[in-house]
Amino acid sequence: MNVATDVMFSAALNADMHCHSTYSDGLLSPAEVVRRAHANGVELLALTDHDEVGGLSEARRTANELGLRFVDGVEISVSWDDDTTVHIVALGINPDDAGLAAGLAQVRSGRDARAMQMAAELDKVGIHGAYEGALRFVGNPALVSRAHFARYIAEQGLARDVKSVFDHWLAKGKPGYVAHSWATLDQALGWIHGAGGVAVLAHPGRFRLSGKELRRLLGEFKDQGGSAIEVLSGAHSAQQVSEFARLAQEFGFAASRASDFHGPGESWIDLGRLPPLPDKLTPVWTLFP
Ligand code: AMP
Ligand code: MN
Ligand code: MN
Ligand code: MN
Repeated sequence: MNVATDVMFSAALNADMHCHSTYSDGLLSPAEVVRRAHANGVELLALTDHDEVGGLSEARRTANELGLRFVDGVEISVSWDDDTTVHIVALGINPDDAGLAAGLAQVRSGRDARAMQMAAELDKVGIHGAYEGALRFVGNPALVSRAHFARYIAEQGLARDVKSVFDHWLAKGKPGYVAHSWATLDQALGWIHGAGGVAVLAHPGRFRLSGKELRRLLGEFKDQGGSAIEVLSGAHSAQQVSEFARLAQEFGFAASRASDFHGPGESWIDLGRLPPLPDKLTPVWTLFP
């Protein structure tokens, strides 16, 4: 292995394997995301819009122009254990795979009705016009997300930022939260593997599971062919990074480095700005050529 190849496979690679564009709930177009990643020194990038692969061709074209290595990705919404939403990031998929496309279309299909229900619930607590308001922030009509509602509610001056909108209105247990059935874990992993991809459990620190539930999720994910977990995530504290590094080793998962960038001013961390992965872990980017 020569030195250049070696860097490509090392933990020191500036890889960012999780971010969003206007094809889901990001603020920048796919081309703008790729240009920003490149300007920030990212050497390997995956675009992973929610339940949608429509932005990948534009992103790949831009990455090719800039000489930036690019991986096709998608972040799939999953309902686990009845009422817990978890996110699975797929990396290295064939975006044209018919089974994956049909699966994602099915997951997206419930979003509009859910959005109308959310608006009805928000109306009851005095936030009016939220459906139309959220739609003004939507780039892809098939992909109305809570993030678009959050932008509308913040714009109304009802909260100081998008984050506190979630704390007051949109998080589980709050007035605008509407329970929803996404894909099953089994379905999501079937679509990902059918499309030649690798499955990564996204931001496990955000799921608010007990230690016992988390271990059960990791066990089921492993049994069904899951390959990696996000150890470094924009959403993780330093303590969570250590915890998930330990769990990755224990369960035999590769590790991902994932900003989950949605846009300037709205995200925990910018593209490519997380610290390097701890040495002892296998970087997820060694799993695909
Ligand atoms: P949805 O898929 O419609 O349920 O929306 C989920 C999206 O909402 C996530 O991908 C984030 O972009 C955003 N989100 C969820 N929780 C929070 C939070 N606490 N703070 C900021 N954004 C959040
Ligand atoms: Mn999002
Ligand atoms: Mn997510
Ligand atoms: Mn995400």
